[in-house]
Amino acid sequence: MDENVSMKCGLEIHVQVDTKSKLFCRCPTNYNEVPPNTNICPVCIGHPGARPMPPNKKAIDIAVMVAKMLGCEIVLNKDIYFQRKHYRYPDLPGGYQRTTVPVGVNGNFLDVGITEVHLEEDPGQYKPDLGVVDYNRSGTPLIEIVTEPDMKTPEEAREFLKQLMRLFKYIGHLRGEGTMRADVNISVNYKGIQGNRVEVKNVNSIKGVYKVLKYEYIRQKNILRRGGEIKRETRAYMESQMITKAMRSKETADDYRYIPDPDIQPIVLDSNWVEEVESKMPETPMEKEKRFMEEYGIKEGDAKVLVSDLALAEVFEKVVHELGVDEKNINLAVTWIRNELRRVLAYNKIDFFESNLKSEHLTELIKLIIDNTISQKIGKRVIEIMVENRGKKTPKEIIEELGLTVITNDDVLINACEEAIKNNPKAVEDYLNGNKVALNFLMGQVMKLTRGRAEPKKVVEILKEKLKDYS
Ligand code: ZN
Ligand code: MN
Repeated sequence: MDENVSMKCGLEIHVQVDTKSKLFCRCPTNYNEVPPNTNICPVCIGHPGARPMPPNKKAIDIAVMVAKMLGCEIVLNKDIYFQRKHYRYPDLPGGYQRTTVPVGVNGNFLDVGITEVHLEEDPGQYKPDLGVVDYNRSGTPLIEIVTEPDMKTPEEAREFLKQLMRLFKYIGHLRGEGTMRADVNISVNYKGIQGNRVEVKNVNSIKGVYKVLKYEYIRQKNILRRGGEIKRETRAYMESQMITKAMRSKETADDYRYIPDPDIQPIVLDSNWVEEVESKMPETPMEKEKRFMEEYGIKEGDAKVLVSDLALAEVFEKVVHELGVDEKNINLAVTWIRNELRRVLAYNKIDFFESNLKSEHLTELIKLIIDNTISQKIGKRVIEIMVENRGKKTPKEIIEELGLTVITNDDVLINACEEAIKNNPKAVEDYLNGNKVALNFLMGQVMKLTRGRAEPKKVVEILKEKLKDYS
């Protein structure tokens, strides 16, 4: 970044609530799973005279919960009415979108001010390239979060969104990054000259927001540097070319001709309602991190990694309790979940949920290692197979099937040690001359001969014993 230039970024983030039915009618919200224009009725496609049902209670509850978790003050004992926001686009058959006034205001998340949180309905889907409109999505509840222009770099905005999506996972009932759409507001200051604010509409991924900010930063800076003026306008993000393009000069609130929707009773939140929502509120990721460090005595780094993925955090706790809460078991659970399981999931490009593993799989695996039925090395192999099989087999079944148990039989180990000694006279000589590393080499050879199944302690004993004969 150039020291003569600074930028300010604010976001308007939309995410769907996973209610079964839409905001004002009983049509289902599984718009992606059914043929176009089948999940629709006169209410959600805006037929004149169609009477909306009272707004979906779950959608309101989740809006309140999101506002609460973002540190907002909830708007209490006041009409929270739906407004009609008018604009013309093929995805909006009624000519207006129904959107509430704020449910919560004045929040703060990661040092970014939260201006407001409100509830609204999703429009349909217009595909200009195909000339097709599908109204299945129309009327699905959305939560919108409006931030203050407090983010100063593309990296900061990206981190904010990542943390916000993680918070959504913790809250549940939200469809998260897959349905996220953000409007990105950005203005640039060049050597004290403040450019106008530009809005980039409908960016549908975190990566997209990051690219948009990078691009706009340079575009606006270059215009200001040449003495030009930044137009106050709305732009579109061209994902394939990774650029933004002017759409229209910016609408003002007047252009939308907001009016309260006369067909919908306003929502009035009281303290009982908010308390009921609070009683269902989950632990935040930050709270969980802190609790993991206090309750299990694990390091901050380990807590951060485990908590970064709610599913892993939950399985970690289950495994610890299944093994019995003590320091040794906790350390093993950290090693096998934080390190090994994550490694294997990343290799298979799946998340924990997709692996079909349950805490019992991991607990059993760790027990087999504790009682020395298998070595650590074999344990790594077993966890790989478990994930590849998507949890169809237990660790015990895998090691029995593949004959992976530790070899403790003396005769087999003695034979392997003798062979390793016979085949590696140089290492034997080194060892006899006082080179301790040579013993590790011989040990490695025995492991190779036994395909990693020899019990290490016994191998060392036997090797030392046998090597005495050579001195
Ligand atoms: Zn409907
Ligand atoms: Mn909106």
